[in-house]
Amino acid sequence: MKDIKRRDFLKLSGGALIGMTLGSVSLRAAAEELDPSDPTAAALKYAKVSPVEGAYCENCMFVQGEDGQELRPCAIFPGKQVAAKGWCSAWAKKA
Ligand code: SF4
Repeated sequence: MKDIKRRDFLKLSGGALIGMTLGSVSLRAAAEELDPSDPTAAALKYAKVSPVEGAYCENCMFVQGEDGQELRPCAIFPGKQVAAKGWCSAWAKKA
């Protein structure tokens, strides 16, 4: 009886772990590069190459992910990736 419960628990937790792993992989794969013509991007004047010297997505407080990546998630554009050398009018210097 105890063994069965333990086995069921292991099966369940293994399945949940696989589900969570696949879930995060598919979320990453689904994050597309932000299109500057996207209405929100256009409203915030997003550009793949920053027109403002010294202000880039990679040094903005809203950028996420790891340093050194060409494309990174941004808190302002959920589900999209922005260019590390890009910029938009919401830029604020990372502390
Ligand atoms: S808020 Fe704008 S400048 Fe900052 S990371 Fe996002 S897109 Fe780049």
